[in-house]
Amino acid sequence: MGFVVAVDGPAGSGKGTVTKLIAERLNLVSIDTGAMYRCVALDCLNKNISSSDLDGIANILKNIKIELKKENGIQKVYLNGEDVTEEIRTAKVDNVVAVFSAIKIVRDKITPLQREMGKTENIIMEGRDIGTVVFPNADVKIFLDCSLEERAKRRYKQNIEKGIETPYEEVLKSIIERHKLETEREIAPFVQAEDAIYVDSSNLSIEEVTNKIIEIINERR
Ligand code: C5P
Repeated sequence: MGFVVAVDGPAGSGKGTVTKLIAERLNLVSIDTGAMYRCVALDCLNKNISSSDLDGIANILKNIKIELKKENGIQKVYLNGEDVTEEIRTAKVDNVVAVFSAIKIVRDKITPLQREMGKTENIIMEGRDIGTVVFPNADVKIFLDCSLEERAKRRYKQNIEKGIETPYEEVLKSIIERHKLETEREIAPFVQAEDAIYVDSSNLSIEEVTNKIIEIINERR
């Protein structure tokens, strides 16, 4: 096993940005596990497979090919050979991904792929169940929390920057719904691992969160 840093946190906690920055500074391979669940959801949407059609989903999972790779320093996501880096971040995927990711056969397929990635390289992996299920023996576990309102504000701002006009109330509602599904699901619910270090990003800048986590990692290395 390589050195493994697990970062679990809700949508909008800044974990994606922070994880990439830490990976660059500490020379770790960063892995965004949410992107993998987003690919499953997008593949099902594209093929009109509903979340209740378990046979259809099983068929998708049998043939799915997900690649996370860096191209000219930019993290890219490929689904069945097609660049879906942008498409997996759209509202249509946001709205259904938590439902697909709560399905057992989906997690049974994706979790081993994630474990495989930590076998040979030094990694920093971000998601919801990395410190609890995927790598319960991770060298460092971070639980990156953030208030719901601050997360909604960040997502709202991100949308505006992308030219997407969604009312703040709607963004907040969608974040609350997704959070409920993730924390209350039966399999791999989003909870803090007992031995994870709690970091609250609500009132911290990206730089401050990054430095704080790097300090924690360096203490353990
Ligand atoms: O992190 P991100 O918001 O991109 O993740 C997308 C979705 O994938 C989450 O809403 C969650 O339902 C699911 N997910 C998960 N387990 C992970 C990572 C993400 O269930 N380890």
